[in-house]
Amino acid sequence: MPVYAPLYRYTGHSCSIMDNRDNQQFSTMFRDIASILALQGDDPFRIRAYRRAAQTLASLSEPVRNVARRDALESLPGIGKTLAREIQELLETGRLRYYEHLITTVPDGLLPLLRLPSLSTEQVRSLWRTHDISSMKQLAQVFHAECLPFDVPTLAALEKEIAAWERAQYRMLLGVALPRADILLERLARLPLVEQVSLAGSLRRGAAMVGDINIVMASPDPPRLMHVCNQQPEIRQVLETAQTSTVVVTSEGLCVSFVAVLPPQFASALHYYTGSAAHLTALRRLAQRRRLDLTQYGVMQLERGQYLTVATEEDMYDLLGLPCIAPELREDSGEIEAAEAGNLPALVTLEDIRGDLHVQSDWSNGAHSLEDIAQMGQRLGYQYVAICDYATAAAADRGLTPAQLEAQIAAIRRLNATLPETFRLLTGVEVDLSPDGEVAFDTGLLQELDVVIAAAHTGLKEPRHKLTRRLCKAMEHPLVDILAHPTGRMLGRQVMPSIDMEAVLETAVETGTYLEINSHVLRLDLPDTYVRQARDLGVTLALGSEAQNIQEMRTMRLGVLTARRGWLGPDQLLNTLTYGGLLRRLHDSGVSNVT
Ligand SMILES: [Zn+2]
Repeated sequence: MPVYAPLYRYTGHSCSIMDNRDNQQFSTMFRDIASILALQGDDPFRIRAYRRAAQTLASLSEPVRNVARRDALESLPGIGKTLAREIQELLETGRLRYYEHLITTVPDGLLPLLRLPSLSTEQVRSLWRTHDISSMKQLAQVFHAECLPFDVPTLAALEKEIAAWERAQYRMLLGVALPRADILLERLARLPLVEQVSLAGSLRRGAAMVGDINIVMASPDPPRLMHVCNQQPEIRQVLETAQTSTVVVTSEGLCVSFVAVLPPQFASALHYYTGSAAHLTALRRLAQRRRLDLTQYGVMQLERGQYLTVATEEDMYDLLGLPCIAPELREDSGEIEAAEAGNLPALVTLEDIRGDLHVQSDWSNGAHSLEDIAQMGQRLGYQYVAICDYATAAAADRGLTPAQLEAQIAAIRRLNATLPETFRLLTGVEVDLSPDGEVAFDTGLLQELDVVIAAAHTGLKEPRHKLTRRLCKAMEHPLVDILAHPTGRMLGRQVMPSIDMEAVLETAVETGTYLEINSHVLRLDLPDTYVRQARDLGVTLALGSEAQNIQEMRTMRLGVLTARRGWLGPDQLLNTLTYGGLLRRLHDSGVSNVT
């Protein structure tokens, strides 16, 4: 039985969730429009106008939404009436009808080609018209067959872009990569050639999407170990191999890179390959002030040109006068300053988690019975699991009816009476929101439940203000405790629902609503950066697996990684409360919601 969702091949651009995400997104769209118009031989004046607008947006230092609020779009360089109107349309609806029409006039795969800095529009047209190449995949094939009719500098630039694209094809979900990595790590750890082994890279840092499975090992004989790594049964292809490193692709299409160093170099190599690049750069700046340099081989004393022995990562940070920074925080987003000031958060761990607040049973779309879920909860060492089956006012959908929920409450109470005192199922529900944010369900029943979760599962392409209002309205409902998967993102999909997250976070503060970190392999929602914002605002978060199969309850680990990346300590999560503490907290928040 598959524990995790099938491998999702990541083919899009990553969704950055910075505040001026709009600026970059709109800039890309305008650049695309200019490229398509150029490809079709449109009016040069129009083409230039879109190019200029794209540049303006890309270099804008404040969110374009703020400029629009001031009614000052037309004061931006190169933004006239038409473009201002189009920006307004994007801000209001999250879409641009002109763009959506225009991209249907060229083959799907052509846009990524038009976005390559190394190719002119002329060259893309010639590839398409003369050589029938209209996708990155085709371009890569022809490139590797050395059949491209371009000069040497263009080919050199293309080589880098194609390599980056090929690597991006192996981007994978954290929840897919981790269990595969576990299997490899366990097997490698048993080899006599391996003295120490650890995950590294973005996987160790717990990023939601990772480029590859990065494994660092200490061995007395790195070249021999590399040879052994290349022989592992799941490997389909060796991409590049050397004395101390090798990059392979597994039969499932996952990219794995192995590094082996001599045992004294292990801590430095582990630190180096864990990254992130930005964190390392910032640390190196700090090291230089102490006349040190950080390398993958050790910490170098610049004056003597000698390496200092570093046995652990703790030692390494210690040399810089810092406490050890957890891998999940190593993104150069304030962790070094916090370490210097002695303000690093004590991060939540999986062991702190006392229960799962969002599990679905065979009463709605889940696969397992209440008994199975209770058993799994106990096996995971939990004190409680909240049964929050899906319910909707739309009769056509699958989901609990009020009568079924009433029967389920009774069934949970009966089952609880038979369970050991150390474990309880909580009664709950995940109510689907109506298009205007109503929680259309029997209020009397909702009142009886321990946990009420609200969520939007459909209508996520609605305009930004409408979707935002819908979520906020749900949080204002006095009986709603938790807003599930707030951003509605699906990992690996290019388009994220357009939501004013600032407004959502503010409403969570005002209403005392808990925001979920949904640990489903495809969600990890709230995303880590918003988790951190929520934490800074004093919002408490709730971990839920939304498991529809008891094995999926194990994704809690992914949720905890996301929480840690969001700088959460145990006190900022509902799930670290004891059963009694949780019930008191949920009861209290219900009261404060009403007032
Ligand atoms: Zn849901």
